[in-house]
Amino acid sequence: MRIYRDLAKAMDSIPIVDTHEHLIEGPFNLRKVIENSYVWWVVPGSGVKSSGYTKSEFQGLLEDRWWDLALERLKAVSNTAFFRHLLLAFKDLYDFDFTRPTREGAEKLSERIWLAYHNPGWYDTVVRDKAGVDIVLHDKYWVVGDISEPKSFYKPVIRLDSFLYGFNPTAKDHDGNTPYSFAERIGYQVSNFDEYLGLIDEFFERGMGKGIGPASSDIQPAVALKCASAYDRPLSFGWPSKEEAEDAFARLWRWNESSGAGGTSSPSSSFPDSSSPTTQFPPDQVRKFQDYVFQYAVKRAIEYDLPIQIHTGLASLNGSNPVNLWSLIKAYPEGKFILLHGGYPWTSEAGAMAASFENVYVDLCWIPVISPEGARRALSEWIEVIPSNRILWGGDAWSPEALYGSARMAKDVVTQVLSQKVGEGYLSMTEAVDLGERIFRDNALALFSKIRP
Ligand SMILES: [Zn+2]
Repeated sequence: MRIYRDLAKAMDSIPIVDTHEHLIEGPFNLRKVIENSYVWWVVPGSGVKSSGYTKSEFQGLLEDRWWDLALERLKAVSNTAFFRHLLLAFKDLYDFDFTRPTREGAEKLSERIWLAYHNPGWYDTVVRDKAGVDIVLHDKYWVVGDISEPKSFYKPVIRLDSFLYGFNPTAKDHDGNTPYSFAERIGYQVSNFDEYLGLIDEFFERGMGKGIGPASSDIQPAVALKCASAYDRPLSFGWPSKEEAEDAFARLWRWNESSGAGGTSSPSSSFPDSSSPTTQFPPDQVRKFQDYVFQYAVKRAIEYDLPIQIHTGLASLNGSNPVNLWSLIKAYPEGKFILLHGGYPWTSEAGAMAASFENVYVDLCWIPVISPEGARRALSEWIEVIPSNRILWGGDAWSPEALYGSARMAKDVVTQVLSQKVGEGYLSMTEAVDLGERIFRDNALALFSKIRP
């Protein structure tokens, strides 16, 4: 217990470099926290969620029908870690026990959350002071190529996914994004494959420099490239020739079976949609196009010295085992590949990948809120398998509340595992503290070198 207490204290004093967040703008109420959290994933029948909120909706705080449905369903998932990490935030930040969700409790809690945001500094207080986060790597996937940031401690990550869907103007990735929203913003026309590759070049150039909008002081160069295509397709990227990809592009461009998917992307549409857009187009052609485009982007990322965060594990499980990346990673020894979410549930495989390749990093990101037990198992093994400079942590949240819960769970996981290793005599106390500092800060600072200009 003494070891745990001492280590917990040490972990709490680390200014965290958080490798992965999707933070959206405040203020929040209870419904906005819940809908923009992973608990919504497991709520039965929630499906893909509605989009943004108007001010008048905030003022209403609660809408009758939504709550009647949500409360029943939340009770069914109150055992999950997705729900538990929010409970931690509600308890610590709002002194509220929401373990057994009731309508009365929901109203009270929602009001407390809403009132807290009357203090304009509350957002940052939660992220920085309460969760202990110093720097956030910010994946704002809902605006393709955008590197403007509302806060100076947010560092932009550019998101590749939609570029794998540029083969047809109607195709969209799992977030509903198309690269042609980006093309339109920057006034770029695509009429052939070379021009399409030029659009990808623009994505990188602007991501590293001037951004996509009017010049503004909010712009910071991207510090990483992220790919979450594991929601859309298997991670086993192949090796088509340029001619094959060009041919696929030409065929798919003319394909007139429009996906018909409408609407614009918003942060709230982040959750996997069962109607995968690829089903509308011939899959063999889509694969050729995507495989080529992905490799093209990997080469660009290497040129710009951008580490590549790849979503592995929980997504489309038939192709998201990190071992699927073997050939790709072997082919690019100069690339820096981060296995986001440590390939959960294939965390041993992720560890083995990192043991096999010097340029592979594993990120605990999201695992503690999927399963603290799974995270403890993963980390305990990784400490024995992977060099200490290649383990990272990120929160993966849309709200400060979820970020807080995620950070608390992660600190507990890391502290428990380190305590056990010290108890067993595997690590000394000094080594354990050092390892914690690496996981929560030093490794990210060294890897994402563009954080510090
Ligand atoms: Zn994420």
